[in-house]
Amino acid sequence: MIGILDGYVDEPSCLGVPPYISPYPRYIAGMLERLGIRWKYATVDEYRRNPEVLQKAKKVIVIAGIAVPGKYMGGRPLSLKELPSIYPEKGKILVGPITLEMKGEIEGYTSIRFPFEHELYRILGGEVRDFSRNFVNEFAVLGAKIVKEHPDFPNIICEIETYKGCYWKRCSFCIERIHRVSMRDPKAVVREIKALYTHGVRHFRLGNQTDFFTYMADFSREYPKPDPEFMRSFHRAIWRECPKIKTLHLDNVNPKTIAEYPEESREIIKTVVCYQTPGNIAAFGMESADERVIEKNNLLAHPEDVMFAIEMINRYGRYTGFNGLPYFLPGINFVFGLKGETKETFQRNYDFLMDILERGLLVRRVNLRQVKVFDFTPMAEIGEKKVRRHKRYFRLFKEKIRENFDRKMLEKILPKGRLIRDVRIEERHGRISFGRQLATYPILVGVVGSFERNTFVDARVVDYGRRSITAFPKIDINSASLYQLMHIPGIGERTASNIAAMRPFRSSDEIERTVGRERAKILRKYLIIPD
Ligand code: SF4
Repeated sequence: MIGILDGYVDEPSCLGVPPYISPYPRYIAGMLERLGIRWKYATVDEYRRNPEVLQKAKKVIVIAGIAVPGKYMGGRPLSLKELPSIYPEKGKILVGPITLEMKGEIEGYTSIRFPFEHELYRILGGEVRDFSRNFVNEFAVLGAKIVKEHPDFPNIICEIETYKGCYWKRCSFCIERIHRVSMRDPKAVVREIKALYTHGVRHFRLGNQTDFFTYMADFSREYPKPDPEFMRSFHRAIWRECPKIKTLHLDNVNPKTIAEYPEESREIIKTVVCYQTPGNIAAFGMESADERVIEKNNLLAHPEDVMFAIEMINRYGRYTGFNGLPYFLPGINFVFGLKGETKETFQRNYDFLMDILERGLLVRRVNLRQVKVFDFTPMAEIGEKKVRRHKRYFRLFKEKIRENFDRKMLEKILPKGRLIRDVRIEERHGRISFGRQLATYPILVGVVGSFERNTFVDARVVDYGRRSITAFPKIDINSASLYQLMHIPGIGERTASNIAAMRPFRSSDEIERTVGRERAKILRKYLIIPD
């Protein structure tokens, strides 16, 4: 038996930290199925809790690698430091983006440089004939059943690969240069989604590509030309095969594509709004609004391209959907520590974001991160010099954005009183339970009250944190705790105590007699009350 240890990945275009599951463990399970080898899957968090979970495995394939560092609520990714302690001592195969940051071999491991699929299959005893990304198609279907072994199943979201690589490949820090552009056959992608759906998955993100809008685009031009007709039929095919999908989202979109091909992009935006589910985000890799940084690092999009793309997505996507979130909004990624960065860069980025607010546009998420330098990228010339030098500026900038931008944006996107549906509770701290929707870049919701992990609640927004919201759960008035009643806006301690003392209520008239008409109106909004 071979163990598959999922140490989680987070590349610029692939996420595998729970509740996400990346395609890699699924592909590996498929390879083993194809070769008739028994396998056992475990996440690294399961392994940490119980290292015996893979005890019967003679060999272990370890998947790991975080190219986009961050804090994760759903799990703790496997680190380089932890690798030597993984059982067994010998016979381990290491795959994933982690191999890009290794300086030498680690004892007990055979590491396969990323991307690994062809080489791994060969090592496992298979024969490799197809060197494109279509190589994974059969394995993606055969390995789909691995999802049932995931500790969060069925509350997982499957990251789906459509293609690898970027035609531009020139941005100084980007690791996508290791991939050549290679598309997966759309019919195979639909077959994979169907296989996962058949095994019970209902949440998907078409997230494993550098620019979703250029999937199956015409790459013979200077800038790939998107194909809106293809996009429509691709989405229709997904829904035809899987009519009860609950989440269908995407990840990266290059704003340059929208700026270069506005007509085609407009049609694709409409398709996304129609055929994907609300709460969707197109993450734009803007990286910097400073022209000097853009030039020195060969970045693709300029601030005017990004602003144009933000406006266009807002035009069709800003309206609220059934789950309480706007259908489709842009997100922006900034990277700091790049070549040519000065104090002025921070000001330019700040001005760009303030301009968005002034124009009344919506942006669902601003990601600020410091560059992670890989040896094989042009950024290696200066390494982390700028990161170290500008550490203080970065900290201050982050503070300013959280204070002056994020909070204001949250208030616009999710105004007080908005009902958000299907928040999945993940952890509990005292009398607040924290959860998120199963979605792309979900908002952290602090739900008032104690709920078990994996409970799904609908809740109304009552307050804001810096990048999170507090929401009040839609629960029955006769079962709400005193603490919960006290946290309904407009209901003070005294009224809450009165309600608690007079329960159970059998009709809304009884409630009105207890608290008065105005307060009864508030209670009707936040709680489930008898007719
Ligand atoms: S546009 Fe630049 S940052 Fe984006 S994927 Fe291509 S090379 Fe990487």
